[in-house]
Amino acid sequence: GKADIEIDLVVLGAGPGGYSAAFRAADLGLKVVLVERYPTLGGVCLNVGCIPSKALLHVAAVMEEAAHFAALGVDFNTPKVDLDKLRAHKDKVVEKLTSGLSGMAKARKVQVLEGVGKFADPHHLAVATDAGVKVVKFAQAIIAAGSQAVKLPFIPGDPRIVDSTGALELAAVPKQMLVIGGGIIGLEMATVYSTLGARISVVEMLDGLMTGVDRDLVKVWEKRNAPRFDKVMLKTKTTKVEAKTGGIWVTFEGEQAPAAPQCYDLVLVAAGRSPNGKKLDADKAGVNVDARGFIAVDSQLRTNVPHIFAIGDIVGQPMLAHKAVHEGHVAAEAAAGHKSHFDAVVIPSVAYTDPEVAWVGVTEDQARAEGRSISKGLFPWAASGRAIANGADYGFTKLLFDAETKRIIGGGIVGPSAGDIIGEIALAIEMGADAEDIGKTIHPHPTLGETVGLAAEVAHGSCTDLP
Ligand code: FAD
Repeated sequence: GKADIEIDLVVLGAGPGGYSAAFRAADLGLKVVLVERYPTLGGVCLNVGCIPSKALLHVAAVMEEAAHFAALGVDFNTPKVDLDKLRAHKDKVVEKLTSGLSGMAKARKVQVLEGVGKFADPHHLAVATDAGVKVVKFAQAIIAAGSQAVKLPFIPGDPRIVDSTGALELAAVPKQMLVIGGGIIGLEMATVYSTLGARISVVEMLDGLMTGVDRDLVKVWEKRNAPRFDKVMLKTKTTKVEAKTGGIWVTFEGEQAPAAPQCYDLVLVAAGRSPNGKKLDADKAGVNVDARGFIAVDSQLRTNVPHIFAIGDIVGQPMLAHKAVHEGHVAAEAAAGHKSHFDAVVIPSVAYTDPEVAWVGVTEDQARAEGRSISKGLFPWAASGRAIANGADYGFTKLLFDAETKRIIGGGIVGPSAGDIIGEIALAIEMGADAEDIGKTIHPHPTLGETVGLAAEVAHGSCTDLP
């Protein structure tokens, strides 16, 4: 067919995966078109995910810390929150970053095409723009179309029922808020709204919050967060949601379900995210998409059609921006003819809650389930001068080592700045460090990051069997 644009590489979707791939490919000399349905670049992460949530979480963390200061002799009084200003601040943070991306695209001569893209065949993408359909003929393509919040079928449409995008709009602070889903996204938003004054209930089908995370870390988080919650309903699900004039009435079923329906002013559905794979007519390009909408790829991020790559949330878990960025770089380099492969040993995760919880690699539960013999180094922050000075003596740092090879295989941190510290543990795992390597690395004193070195010293000096 006829093409409006002929190009070396088309990238479908301008989230962290897509823009990273487009920029890297352009740097390597390819002519690139970046297709995005929304007017701003950055995808979920910059517009309605990582960045706006962190802007609000930072404000919440400062408010929480200020609230403890009266006991230290400095009273800031009850905070007055101007929601309009707070929302404007968050929007400005997002705007700064997304406009920065536009500048970076221009500087690299990456052509941004705004519109909804769908495959017409293995070498053509039809993009529905405001000015009609534009056909892009491509030599290679990278699918980076991301994911969207899972919708629960029985939930009615009502402005008081939102997903994470709606919650980030921060229209009002409810009195009673229900969070459906006890994962990271739900608990981050619960943190923001509870600090702003909402009473929170959480319902989770599984037997714990933050499943998959080391229970020792979660226990500390739960203890610190208990005052935020009216009810935490585990092994429980919502079966009916009714929007009435006075509120949203929710019926529960399960182990910790209240007998009668409960009423809320705001319900956040944070029950997971599903990939956008089924909306791209990928079959017309011959690309296999599984029943859930994921696209399988090899270590170069190639789909079953070798000149079409896929990256980010659409290729599977963990659905995290830093994974998408690294995959984007590999796919772009492979498209440019380099022998790059995605071979990360580990991908760290962070819940930017209060306190933060961060983890990487193997957890203790996992090691036990696999019958793997491990040794661990645990450093309670009650023994860290900096943590005590900062009022964070409840935190701790935990490292896990393979008992035979002595190499570090996992780690977790709970406490302020855990997310900033976890990168060092990821590096240690990637480098195959052992406890001695980490313990004998001189860490600056007094810092929270120092606890990684101290935990390693504990492990190095300890017996190899678990207590
Ligand atoms: P996306 O960011 O989803 O981008 C895909 C893009 O493709 C979108 O812009 C979409 O509009 C576009 N698109 C889709 N289909 C088409 C089409 N047919 N035509 C044109 N354009 C299309 N991750 C972290 O690592 N850290 C965090 O702190 C964090 N916080 C989060 C908080 C929230 C509330 C949410 C929802 C997510 C968070 N995430 C976080 C996850 C992170 O946002 C995603 O992992 C990341 O955005 C995935 O990047 P991506 O490039 O795969 O896709």
